[in-house]
Amino acid sequence: MKKRSITFYALSNFQSLLDDMVVPAERALHEAIQVSPLVHSDEAKKQKVENLLKEMRLSAATVRRIKEVFISEMNKGIHQQPSSLQMENTYIPELIDGTEEGQYLALDLGGTNFRVLLVELQHGKIMREKVKKYEIGSHLRIGSGYPLFDYLAECVSDFVINEGLQDTELPLGFTFSFPMVQHALDIGMLVTWTKSYNCPDVVGKNTVQLLREALARRGDTKVKVNAILNDTTGTLIQGAMSDPKTAIGLILGTGSNACYVERADRVEHWEVERHGEKEVIVDIEWGAFGDNGVLDFIKTDFDRENDANSILVNSFTFEKYIAGKYLGEIVRVILARLYKDGLFLSSKVTPNALLTPGNLTTDLVSHIEQDTVDGGKKNTVEVLSKFGVTIDEDDINVVQYVCEVASNRAALLVSICLAYLLERINKDDISIAVDGSLFKHHPRLETWMYKYIRLLAPGRKFKLVLAEDGSGKGAALVSAIAQRLQRRID
Ligand code: ADP
Ligand code: MG
Repeated sequence: MKKRSITFYALSNFQSLLDDMVVPAERALHEAIQVSPLVHSDEAKKQKVENLLKEMRLSAATVRRIKEVFISEMNKGIHQQPSSLQMENTYIPELIDGTEEGQYLALDLGGTNFRVLLVELQHGKIMREKVKKYEIGSHLRIGSGYPLFDYLAECVSDFVINEGLQDTELPLGFTFSFPMVQHALDIGMLVTWTKSYNCPDVVGKNTVQLLREALARRGDTKVKVNAILNDTTGTLIQGAMSDPKTAIGLILGTGSNACYVERADRVEHWEVERHGEKEVIVDIEWGAFGDNGVLDFIKTDFDRENDANSILVNSFTFEKYIAGKYLGEIVRVILARLYKDGLFLSSKVTPNALLTPGNLTTDLVSHIEQDTVDGGKKNTVEVLSKFGVTIDEDDINVVQYVCEVASNRAALLVSICLAYLLERINKDDISIAVDGSLFKHHPRLETWMYKYIRLLAPGRKFKLVLAEDGSGKGAALVSAIAQRLQRRID
């Protein structure tokens, strides 16, 4: 009896010792992730607004839990168990090594514009680059996929013939920024269309093959498609060209995704013969993180409404918390709720424009956030005036507060995942190549990300490096890597 109580005492003492160690770290995290309090002339209203947004402000414990869920989903995904993280093998086992030479084509489909690029490499560096944008009419984006692929081939021909290169053998890297399952570096099966595309007969098919067949039907060029990738992978490779420490690619634009350099022995899904690869780029496809419900503990009513107003309901859960396509809508949904609760806008006129889904775009959030950085209100007034509403000082503060809370949560969520990736890759110094207008233009996202990643991955050395146009140049670079690998095997 006595013995047991001594053991109990020792254990509880040990526990309190542990608590003493954990609590300061937890407290530091808790303090660091606080947003500035709302400034308001009416204390009761201030409390109500802050309360309504309480669930949008993550606690330190929630942050830890998100990290645990992310780790668990990554491990399940990589071991091919059911997971919301696809952890797709890209079959890119090496970065640029400085030996790449010659001309490479790239095709970029799935971003804001469809483009064809020609890139000239010397010693693994881009010496010359030519780009042409093409329109893809909505009639091609919806319906049978064959006219779409015929059109892609037509654009490639147009570009190549204009360059006078129709008789030159040209390798092409195809950036196809849609979810796909890869069986090899040049085999990508479309899982589902997203964005404004929907050609059902392409789903489940190898889009490289469709492009090759369309090029062959024309027969007017010597283009050889040798790699398929998405914009995230292209961004990592593009970043690695100028910074060999690059081991993570990140997209924060319309959507969000990340990829990273993984140890090859951890990757189970590998359908082609291995050639002693030590590493390989894994595309996490984190836009869908939480689609199986594992992140429901952070979902607020605002997120549910944002989801309901989106095109692909119940999917791309994580992306909907953070990406450019949705951040403005989250802010709008919150403001609409505050208006309905009598906590925002006192004018008698119904703010119809603000109550309409899609009307508050993320660039406006950036614009308002700039005011908070400058301690001003000019941009906030300008944005609200577009919605035709009369505002007072409290309304300005409420809008700025909501933009801060929503943006801050996005920064924190991205940082939790990046901090874990730094741990997982476990190299001395890691550069994260980032592309996307949200990252580029939001006035505070980058600063917050540095702060949170440092806190969540203490002692890890890292850099966030803007790598623009990974979906273009990156694809040409991947095509060059693919050619190098092929020559080695031949
Ligand atoms: P894509 O993701 O289509 O390749 P971008 O990286 O340019 O293209 O991202 C475009 C998206 O970025 C837009 O949909 C918008 O949501 C967001 N965005 C555009 N401008 C800004 C801005 N000033 N601040 C924040 N987000 C922006
Ligand atoms: Mg892009």
